[in-house]
Amino acid sequence: MSRYWSPLVHTLSPYVPGEQPKIAQLIKLNTNEHPWPPSPKVAEAIAAELAGSTVDEAGERLRLYPDPSAAALRATLADVHGLDAAQVFVGNGSDEVLAHAFQALLNHRRADGSARPLLYPDITYSFYPTYCRLYGITPQTVALDAHLQLRVDDLIDAARTHDAGGVVFPNPNAPTGCGVARAEIERLLVALPDTVVVVDEAYVDFGAESAVPLIAAHPNLLVVHTLSKSRALAGLRVGYALGHAELIDALVRVKDSFNSYPLDRLALVGAQAALADSDWFTRACRAVSDSRAKLSAELAALGFDVLPSQANFVFAAHPRHDAATLARALRERAILVRHFSRPERIADRLRITIGTPAQCDALVAALRDILGPQG
Ligand SMILES: *Cc1c(COP(=O)(O)O)cnc(C)c1O
Repeated sequence: MSRYWSPLVHTLSPYVPGEQPKIAQLIKLNTNEHPWPPSPKVAEAIAAELAGSTVDEAGERLRLYPDPSAAALRATLADVHGLDAAQVFVGNGSDEVLAHAFQALLNHRRADGSARPLLYPDITYSFYPTYCRLYGITPQTVALDAHLQLRVDDLIDAARTHDAGGVVFPNPNAPTGCGVARAEIERLLVALPDTVVVVDEAYVDFGAESAVPLIAAHPNLLVVHTLSKSRALAGLRVGYALGHAELIDALVRVKDSFNSYPLDRLALVGAQAALADSDWFTRACRAVSDSRAKLSAELAALGFDVLPSQANFVFAAHPRHDAATLARALRERAILVRHFSRPERIADRLRITIGTPAQCDALVAALRDILGPQG
């Protein structure tokens, strides 16, 4: 607290990311990073950007600003998704893209000045409430059902009851890993034609149905993607949004009122190289889903209740062991997983990122040891 702070800063409660400790031999299954390194083409492209045939040439690239519109990367993304470049927005990680979407598309008021709330699930990505506080948006949560599933009918009912100004949810949801079918998302878009629906597809490549094919027919849909998870590039900071050109225009207006150059030259060429390597992508996604199937079965054999996951993590509860205690015991064995003490409904669960087969084996062995012969 400081008297120099603005009144807004006093009201903020920032997002707390999972820890990134410097512990040797750490098995890090707490922040949903990819267990394998990205396509080697990414580092090659970045090195080439910095090399040039002379030092002057490389220096010249760093001296000048990058392309503020990221035209080449947007053209590639348009190609990958069968859209037009005018339907693509890029930003410094999808967190930044989401932040712009909150401000540009999800912050609405009625004629009398009162806030129209933004709907999102009661159990979801904890950056959403953070952005609401930053931008003065009123949140309205919609409870997941008893099986921790998001029900589209509940979203539709809540949107009508509360005259919602927008809807946002991850698909698959975080931290549950459970997805909503594309046909259900279409039903939501049709029911709420005057409301923007943002679908955060950070984990979609690991096995859920993407809403991207719905963009053509639904001008109220914005789909957000990231290269941090399925392309193994959390360190590069590249995210993007797909939607009708009108929605993309709104994001560009906010971006150009904030930072014209969110992606530097290295991120631009690295992202291009990652998108070009579809072989790496297909293999890496399959390896994660294979590892997930094996880990889910092994956790179930140890007595855990494991939600069916379509993401690169599982969300598991043990009927006889406290989740926070398990997380601490794993940490003592240099294995990090994520535990959320709130909301209460999920305090009995651990969110475990899918690791390499060797990392998953080490996790299962550690859990067997911690749980003991009685389970
Ligand atoms: C990881 C994550 C993001 C953000 O990813 P960036 O690294 O900022 O691109 C967005 N939404 C959800 C649900 C996530 O889990």
